[in-house]
Order: sequence, then C-alpha cells, then structure tokens
Amino acid sequence: MRLARANYDGTVGYGRVDGDKFHAYEATTLDDLVAGHRLRERQVIPMSQVVLRAPVPQPGKLVCIGLNYHDHCEEQNIPIPERPVIFAKFTSSIADPFTTVLRPPETRQLDFEAELAVIIGKPGHNISAARAYEHVFGYTIFNDISARDLQFADSQWIRGKSFPTFGPMGPWITTGEDIRDPQGLSISLRLNDRLMQESNTARMIFGIAELVSYVSRLGLETGDVIATGTPAGVGTFRKPPVYLEPGDLVSIEIESLGRLENRIADATTTPLDPRYALAPTDARDAK
Ligand code: MG
Repeated sequence: MRLARANYDGTVGYGRVDGDKFHAYEATTLDDLVAGHRLRERQVIPMSQVVLRAPVPQPGKLVCIGLNYHDHCEEQNIPIPERPVIFAKFTSSIADPFTTVLRPPETRQLDFEAELAVIIGKPGHNISAARAYEHVFGYTIFNDISARDLQFADSQWIRGKSFPTFGPMGPWITTGEDIRDPQGLSISLRLNDRLMQESNTARMIFGIAELVSYVSRLGLETGDVIATGTPAGVGTFRKPPVYLEPGDLVSIEIESLGRLENRIADATTTPLDPRYALAPTDARDAK
C-alpha cells in the first residue's frame, strides 16, 4: 500500500494512493496510520489536485547511516566499517517531496545522497536482527543533502547536514508488506539529465535488519526514520567534483518506492517557506 501525506481541499492528512487517485483518510497523524485508526475514507481526489508532503514530517529521531554501500567506500578508498556509522540530522531539515532545497550562503559545496529510508512502526529496544522487520512500517526515499565544506570542517556532521530543507523525503510510504525484498531494490539519482548514482540496496554493507537492530540499542519509537546510507556517485568524490547550483533538479528513483524530485534554490534570494522559518529573522535575513 502507498500511504501519502498531502494537502487537499484546504487540509492536510494521510491517505492511500491508488493509481491517479488519492483516497483521503480521516487520519492526520502517523500514529493513527500505523495503528490502523481513522482509516475511514473522507473523499477520493485526483492526484493532480493534491500536493504531496513529507510522509513523516516530525520523526522523534532522524538517524542516518554513513558509509553503508560497498561502492561508496570504494570511491573514497576507505576500508569497510566494522560497525554501522551512525549520525543524526535535525528533524527540522525535513522537506516535502517536490519542493525546493535551499542552498545557504555558508556553503558552496552542496551535495546529494540518494537513500532508502526505513520508517519504524513499532517501538523497541535491543531488537534482534531476526525480529527487526516486525518493527518496520514501511519505506520511502530520502535525499541526505550535505554541505561538504561544512561537513568536513567539523568532526561532527550535524551542522553540514541539518540546514532547513536538507532532508527531502517522499513521495509516500510504501508499506513493508508490499516490498518482498528491500535488499534487492535498484536505486538511482539524476542531476538534471545526468545519471550520477546507480546501485542496488543489495550492495549495502549492513542490511536493514542489522541496522534496525543496531540503532534499537538506543531505543526506537514509532515514526523514527533511519536513512540507510548512499551508494557511489555523490558529487564531492567525482573528479572534478560536482556541486549543486541554484536551478539544478535532483531526482531520485528507488524501485517500487517511486520518485523524489527537488529543485535547488539560493537561500539568499528565495524566501524560506514559512514552515521553515524557525525564527522571525530568518525570512528577513533571506532577502
Ligand atoms: Mg547519507
């Protein structure tokens, strides 16, 4: 099942995507959706009349895994990690599936990372890998946008990874029962018309079950999101490097999960969506 969060008819809520139709549920929270509550259909709307939003706008945790594809380690010429490399992004970085990613003035090395994201549907602590999938609600596409100059200037990556709009997510949640083998999905990213990343989730170093188990030692709650790392082909390790510029279009496809597409804009000339205006000065500074 494809479960989307969308604006329609002056409201925002969850619904089921079926072809070109959005079956709007009464559910407005992920908790409702996961629990199977408020799934009565309010109305059916053509997809052309809804605006898709990030399917998990405010997870309790947005956990990212670094260096989790064999090909991504090879392109950097670094050894395969012995255990998953975990870092966090602020959840305020999450952006809607077809909106603009804003390049802040602090960086000139904006980069993309196509990733499969896992959405947790059942809380747990010290979950075994054998039981990990019982805690997975579904999957979506994530772009782990990164300011490389800031990321590599710091020993912690959170600053370079957490600006507003640095976490586009969507277009919807594909539930776990619909994905027979999440470790066999093709994953690709195009920058404008150029194919930049092309791999398969089979090439992950630590698989989804292992990652869920590992991260669950810190405790997992319903709605937590784990972004499982990116394959080879990111801009910064290319020769010469390729960085995102205003006007660029970044499009990620993962087999069975759909397409996530975001255009890059300059934060100094593009006002922040009010949703991202964390302080009243933000909008003024952006002008
Ligand atoms: Mg990443």
